[in-house]
Amino acid sequence: MEISGNGDQITADILVVGGGIAGITAAIEASEIGKSAVLVEKEPFLGGRVAKMNQYFPKLCPPLCGLEINFKRLRFNDQVKIMTLTTVEEVTGKPGDFEITLKVEPRYVKDDSPDFDEYVEACPIEVPNQDNFGIDMHKAVYLPQMAYPSIYAVDPSVVNDDKFKSWAKGCKTDIFDLDMKPETVKVKAAAIIWATGWQPYDAAKIDNLGFGKHDNVVTNVIFERLASADGPTQGKIQRPSDNAEIKKIGFVQCAGSRDENHLPYCSAVCCAASIKQANYVREQHPEAEIHIFYIDVRTPGRLEDFYASTDEDEKIFFHRGKVAEVREVSGSKNLIVAAENTLTGKITEMEMDMVVLATGMVPNSVECKPPVDAIMDDWGFLSSDTSSGVVGAGVASRPFDVAASVQDATGSVLKALQMMNRS
Ligand SMILES: Cc1cc2nc3c(=O)[nH]c(=O)nc-3n(C[C@H](O)[C@H](O)[C@H](O)COP(=O)(O)OP(=O)(O)OC[C@H]3O[C@@H](n4cnc5c(N)ncnc54)[C@H](O)[C@@H]3O)c2cc1C
Repeated sequence: MEISGNGDQITADILVVGGGIAGITAAIEASEIGKSAVLVEKEPFLGGRVAKMNQYFPKLCPPLCGLEINFKRLRFNDQVKIMTLTTVEEVTGKPGDFEITLKVEPRYVKDDSPDFDEYVEACPIEVPNQDNFGIDMHKAVYLPQMAYPSIYAVDPSVVNDDKFKSWAKGCKTDIFDLDMKPETVKVKAAAIIWATGWQPYDAAKIDNLGFGKHDNVVTNVIFERLASADGPTQGKIQRPSDNAEIKKIGFVQCAGSRDENHLPYCSAVCCAASIKQANYVREQHPEAEIHIFYIDVRTPGRLEDFYASTDEDEKIFFHRGKVAEVREVSGSKNLIVAAENTLTGKITEMEMDMVVLATGMVPNSVECKPPVDAIMDDWGFLSSDTSSGVVGAGVASRPFDVAASVQDATGSVLKALQMMNRS
């Protein structure tokens, strides 16, 4: 079916919710077998968590390699309608015949604005940069690297700020429309693919590991931003408390994961993510010692070689040990990592100048459930039972790395087609 309708009524074969790598893949794959898709993303830009990575394991290439090719496939694809700043409000109907109500938040920038980099430079208001976990600030009108669509967005918190309003009004060209209001759009679709991805487990809940208490304890997602050129330190990995060079760094695996008190499951990517991040440190600080504390190292399939080659590195040390505590050395911002060997029970303590917690992935569907009776497991991942008409894709259905998310998203299209044929 061709996409039909415009404005506030659209008809398509499939609605894809979530514009990360899984949702993008599902929409493109559907279109390439002749099905139309509406792809909705709650943020102003597509790309999801992958767009915020410094490099991908195992090849350690920038995420741009994977995303750019998909953005190209989307650019001239008239079978995929992209709707950013959009969420699902209501779903009625049944598999084969859903009516979905979408809410579209305003961008406050006119889509046909001329290139206005020079105006943005002069924007007097800055807001915490959420992509960098609020560590630094950015202009209230912003366009991240790799942004798709490449249209500036305005942080909604400033829209009623008098200083911002008067600056926006004074811009020579008529580029802002601060009176834009949220809109409602109805979509008729036969199937729904739910690809809303993940958020990091809240490390502040893991009391014994010191996040939020000690300056030099960060999480793996924050560390990824510290290593990124568009991160808060422009890619320079340094100790948060004093910007000092890293000499000895610890990576704590299973931080909250595989733990009945936090996340009982394995997030599948954290071991490879820490190995990747150890390589970032190795490259920037060749003299630094890197210590990885693990319960067991989980790097299945093609990731085993990545682990094996890193394990051979003379500056990277793997220690079997569940970390019981990270505490600050009194009078110093250094940290003691106390770990219990899971085979011998022996506890060792080592002093580090920075610690990275490998926290796991929590499905976003825990906070934002699909507004239909989609079947979910105890942890909020969508079940493979698709009788509700909703098919999970990517990390919405299981903890996956990018390659597996892409495969899962491709499979989700087949499941959606089967469902459409049945209905
Ligand atoms: C520290 C760390 C490092 C990693 N490094 C790597 C790596 O190097 N290589 C690798 O292969 N994998 C890596 N991963 C895993 C990788 O991040 C995931 O495989 C990938 O993000 C999965 O993509 P996704 O599309 O399923 O989810 P996401 O990337 O989370 O995308 C989901 C999208 O849905 C949107 N969304 C959420 N809720 C809604 C809603 N209600 N309505 C509309 N839109 C919504 C989000 O804004 C987002 O754009 C890493 C993971 C971690 C934790």
